[in-house]
Amino acid sequence: MPVTMDSVREALGPAVTVVGVIGSPVAHSLSPLLHASAFSALGLGDEWRSFAFEVLPGSAPGALEAMRRADIRGVSVTMPHKADVVAGVDECSEVARRLGAVNCIVNRDRSLWGTNTDGEGFVSSLRRGAGLDPAGRHCVVVGAGGAARAVVLSLAQAGAAEVAIVNRTPERAFEAAALADPVGVVVPLTDRSVAEAVVGADLVVNATPVGMAGRDGVVDQGPGEWLVPPELLTSGQVAADLVYAPRPTGWLDAAAAGGATVLDGLGMLVHQAAAQLVLWTGEEPPVEAMWRAAEAAGPKEA
Ligand code: NAP
Repeated sequence: MPVTMDSVREALGPAVTVVGVIGSPVAHSLSPLLHASAFSALGLGDEWRSFAFEVLPGSAPGALEAMRRADIRGVSVTMPHKADVVAGVDECSEVARRLGAVNCIVNRDRSLWGTNTDGEGFVSSLRRGAGLDPAGRHCVVVGAGGAARAVVLSLAQAGAAEVAIVNRTPERAFEAAALADPVGVVVPLTDRSVAEAVVGADLVVNATPVGMAGRDGVVDQGPGEWLVPPELLTSGQVAADLVYAPRPTGWLDAAAAGGATVLDGLGMLVHQAAAQLVLWTGEEPPVEAMWRAAEAAGPKEA
């Protein structure tokens, strides 16, 4: 029997506060574990529970109705629903509206508010894991998909001096750069332009799936697909990869060999979840406990 919001509410009764994650496929999601580790560290382990709710593509509207009906306090939203949920919630944060993507819903007396904590999670991870504040910094973001867009917007909002986008498809690069206006620029895909952008950068972020391991653990993409050769990076620069399986990626390994400070994607995963927990519980999130749970779990998905 699949776990549904209604079945969980029926089994637990009204006293337990329920949160979770919606996505498809969602069984491998790390979110319930991250939430549970936080509840336990906060002493809420008996009163708060988290579940993975399988919601098939196109079925997000039904899940939002069930959230209201079953009094689910909040959910994390993952693939493939992040864009669909924007239109289904009652209100959206400015960040979610600009990104066109919601990764977190808060249920306030049956009124659903959507926001997006991915970019905030990345910047927190950057500050904490690499000791870098983006304010006044020159940043290069490789990729222009959902995760890249969240990173671009948050770097600009944190005061970056420049956010330069390197992407395979130019149209998407321009759309992402517009999110960082007036500090967003597009880097032409020539060896020389990419090298100039990277050499002058304080931070280079891989926000593409290149280097990510598949379900079978096999990394099927390699050096031939790197839009930014890691040999360009050196000491005094930070190389960040949003990929967290494997940790580190081959690209990060090569950047570290050149002397760059490296940051893998697990910190962003933990911090975006921590930012969601604040919205649901109002409590300071126990990031260390969540971090330990994520590391112990090994490679999984948000
Ligand atoms: P997405 O929306 O599908 O976007 C993928 C981006 O990567 C696009 O810009 C695409 O370029 C580019 N790309 C894909 N394959 C490429 C290749 N072989 N060579 C060059 N560019 C390529 O994906 P996403 O949701 O943004 O996710 C991107 C990565 O971030 C994934 O690995 C995901 O696991 C990771 N992520 C991590 C976290 C975290 O918490 N750490 C959170 C979210 C995502 P085009 O525009 O040219 O197609």
